Amino acid sequence: MQPPRRKRDLVASATQVDFPALAIATARVPVLLPYPFVGPFDYRVPAGMAVAPGDVVRVPLNRREEFGVVWDGAADGSVGDNRLRPIIAKIDAPPMRPDVRALVDWIASYTLAPPGDVLAMALRVNALQPEPPRTGWQIAPDPPASRLTEARQKILATLADGPLGGAALVAASGVSSAVIRGMADAGWLIPVTIATPAAFAPPDPDHPGPILSPAQTVASAQLRDAVQSRTFSVSLLEGVTGSGKTEVYMEAIAQALRQGRQTLVLLPEIALSAQFLARFTARFGVAPAVWHSNLSPRIRRRTWRAVAAGDALVVVGARSALFLPFPDLGLVVVDEEHETAFKQEDGVVYHARDMAIVRARLCSAAAVLVSATPSLESLTNVEAGRYAHVHLPDRHGGATMPEIALVDLRTDMPERGHFLAPSLVAEIHTTLARGEQAMLFLNRRGYAPLTLCRACGHRMQCPNCTAWLVEHRARKLLQCHHCGHNVPIPPACPECSASHSLTPVGPGVERITEEAAATFPDARVLVMASDTLIGPDAAAAAASRIEAREIDLIIGTQIVAKGWHFPHLTLVGVVDADLGLAGGDLRAAERTVQLLHQVAGRAGRADAPGRVLLQTFSPEHKVMQALLSGDFSRFMQSEAAERRPGNWPPFGRLAALIVSADSADAADRAASELGRAAPALDGVTVLGPAPAPLSILRGRHRRRLLLKTRRDIAVQPVLRAWLDAVPTRRDVRVDVDVDPVSFL
Ligand code: ADP
Ligand code: ZN
Repeated sequence: MQPPRRKRDLVASATQVDFPALAIATARVPVLLPYPFVGPFDYRVPAGMAVAPGDVVRVPLNRREEFGVVWDGAADGSVGDNRLRPIIAKIDAPPMRPDVRALVDWIASYTLAPPGDVLAMALRVNALQPEPPRTGWQIAPDPPASRLTEARQKILATLADGPLGGAALVAASGVSSAVIRGMADAGWLIPVTIATPAAFAPPDPDHPGPILSPAQTVASAQLRDAVQSRTFSVSLLEGVTGSGKTEVYMEAIAQALRQGRQTLVLLPEIALSAQFLARFTARFGVAPAVWHSNLSPRIRRRTWRAVAAGDALVVVGARSALFLPFPDLGLVVVDEEHETAFKQEDGVVYHARDMAIVRARLCSAAAVLVSATPSLESLTNVEAGRYAHVHLPDRHGGATMPEIALVDLRTDMPERGHFLAPSLVAEIHTTLARGEQAMLFLNRRGYAPLTLCRACGHRMQCPNCTAWLVEHRARKLLQCHHCGHNVPIPPACPECSASHSLTPVGPGVERITEEAAATFPDARVLVMASDTLIGPDAAAAAASRIEAREIDLIIGTQIVAKGWHFPHLTLVGVVDADLGLAGGDLRAAERTVQLLHQVAGRAGRADAPGRVLLQTFSPEHKVMQALLSGDFSRFMQSEAAERRPGNWPPFGRLAALIVSADSADAADRAASELGRAAPALDGVTVLGPAPAPLSILRGRHRRRLLLKTRRDIAVQPVLRAWLDAVPTRRDVRVDVDVDPVSFL
């Protein structure tokens, strides 16, 4: 509402209550629409309708009707009363909560994304319509007295225990739905509404859990206190892989449950949820609610409503779960907080870990970040006293950390055309002979990352991107991993027409699988890659085959690195430990250590000790040395020492501008224009413009500029002023990435 400007208005508004007609004339509210406009639009509230911020409404937009949300703050008033269009209807749905609206505003202003684009993410999780009642069949109270066929008798027998939904009835009786309809028409069956199953039984915090070790007891007490206080706080739970971090944060969840408050657990990879669900169920007696983008509309709606009603007390989910309507959120856990998968790279570019902390603050909840190898950002926040530190130094139950060794590929050379060094091969043989499991890790999908013509040297490149095409031999394709473009593997070189001259260069998991099959012919091999294991169910099935020891050798991409617990896995071989170190990424070393430590942590988690072999061409590299010594904290101190002097994150702030256009010229022109308008402020540096490493992506030419500021300077106002100073061009896009984690 706008403050009254003059005394007379004050009088008028005080008496409005007696003159409803007056109130109607001025009843306008801001409505935010899920589109990239600069802000909400004003709409008129028609007579007889009352709306409040958060209400979901249907409004006219141009010639269409759209859903929007009545927003906070004053109407902007720029459109005259006479041209103001009315709200069509208020939707009968739970209003968007104030903390969710505040989160939307916060993300928009932090990332410089249009608020409507952020609202669109929040509305996508929103289940606007209530779940339609499920109908089913029951036996009519006074059935006709005619004779029954065998099929009809089966239906009656199946329904003797109570009503069933149509599909369930077909499945249980083995009789077709035509028979059911026929029986209904003949008066044997009547339709009934079936109660929705109570899918969200409350987890029991006092369900017996494991007996915690002394270190775990101390750690869980710290987290419990943080939850108990009902105030915002952030704790970093750091502990080596297998130290029992999950068991410890379960105690924080138990505390939230005792207080009747809700918990959100964010996982970087929803494929991981299967093992989490099993652990959770063991601890609390029932499974938590699950949230991710592949839920069926029915489950989605039911889950959303259960969260809004406070019935779903614990939700485990992917990034988008941040926008769920928790009425009383007491705890937010971000597991594997160092994972870059938490950064959403397309659409609204935001970091779900950081926004989880914002959400926790808006709800006066405790946030717990969990990792064996925390990000330098979080460690620095601990050092500065902004985050509490909760530490588990040892593996649980006397399991030892795996022994790590380097395989020097310069001297311990694989056979020609092979990728596994003799020492690694020997170690796998020994492991398999002992009846234990081994894992080979290579963070690259497909058969080979490059295809080269032996006759003319031509390299198979994507026509739309600055990238090589990756061979996927099983699918007989060459595919671009950036835009998805693919072509059948050509029989001859497209450049020089030489036939049978195209040769794969380098390995992907598919090629390693081929080598493993030849080298370990008796081993039962399972490949785990994001393009072969799609969705949590496939991952869960794979995990249970591994646990049941139906598999001897696991070969996988980064999906196998995550928090899996495979008790019989004792050997991990990293095929190419140098893979992540190429390129000029600020965090390349940090990330490689995190990833490889994580992979290594899969080995020897139970009784048998684990062993890890890292194949590398540069054994002396600080990353290999850090992994060898296991001294993660010393490595992170050296990272900090390298980044501090130049004000690199987390000691300064970064934002990237990515300029893209259909032609190289237009991209260059726009990028240099931005470069010339770069802010000249103390403590602010602009790097670039420079061609992006992926200088062409999906046919668009890309240039990058990087804004670097001292930590005490907020980048958003600087960015806004900078972008405002340069006219927008229709043929050019400028994408903003605040706190970039990818520099492609
Ligand atoms: P992290 O998350 O730190 O990698 P987990 O929580 O997965 O470690 O624990 C590793 C293994 O040890 C799991 O199988 C877990 O069930 C078991 N574990 C941890 N703490 C206990 C405990 N106090 N009692 C029994 N088992 C435990
Ligand atoms: Zn491409």
